[in-house]
Amino acid sequence: MNNNQSYLLELHKQNAEPIEMLRQYAEANQVPIVDRLTLEMIKQLIRLHKPQRILEIGTAIAYSSMQFASVSNKIKVTTIERNSEMQLKAKENIIKFGYGEQIELVEEDALEAFDNIKHLSFDMIFIDAAKAQSKKFFTLYAPLLKEGGVIVTDNVLYHGFVSDISVVRSRNVKQMVKKVQQYNEWLMAQPDFTTNFLNMDDGLAISIKGESK
Ligand code: SAM
Repeated sequence: MNNNQSYLLELHKQNAEPIEMLRQYAEANQVPIVDRLTLEMIKQLIRLHKPQRILEIGTAIAYSSMQFASVSNKIKVTTIERNSEMQLKAKENIIKFGYGEQIELVEEDALEAFDNIKHLSFDMIFIDAAKAQSKKFFTLYAPLLKEGGVIVTDNVLYHGFVSDISVVRSRNVKQMVKKVQQYNEWLMAQPDFTTNFLNMDDGLAISIKGESK
């Protein structure tokens, strides 16, 4: 972590939500959750764009979905999680922190959950599940995004490996990093979306639907 990052993290600690205590749980239990500065960026996007309905792919312990919902009590979050342990923890946290009215947990694999949520339309989609499958999630759920809506994808620089794959030794990680590279290039080529990438934490892509180039 560089000095600027540590400095900004300290600044943001000043107005942390109670939900922030889950970060310690996540770290202690090796649950990957969205990095703090990335989270603050997405919450700022939410304040600007004012989505009423957010779809999240990859709930884990419901940290990010509750953080998103905390921006306004008008926001409804539909979040999909396939892992049963995570589902249990997410349900526990949603009740504990009082977000039962705003967050709906869909307990399924996101690649199989489409039929159950296709009646909904969203203003924002957050893709934060299996990194090699981001393109599948994007393709499947983009039709549910309204014109002018935003798709945010986390980890598009994946530990710095995406910009320098030569340092990766493991074959599996290499395969995954290649998929992320392909996804980023594919995102840039989507005629219906305008995407920009932020070199922040693990890398964030922000894709706006229907913006002309
Ligand atoms: N968004 C969460 C946060 O920041 O608090 C973190 C999500 S974590 C990075 C990714 C989660 O996606 C894991 O809990 C994993 O079980 C889930 N996941 C991975 N692939 C999935 C899929 N195909 N369908 C549903 N959930 C999936």
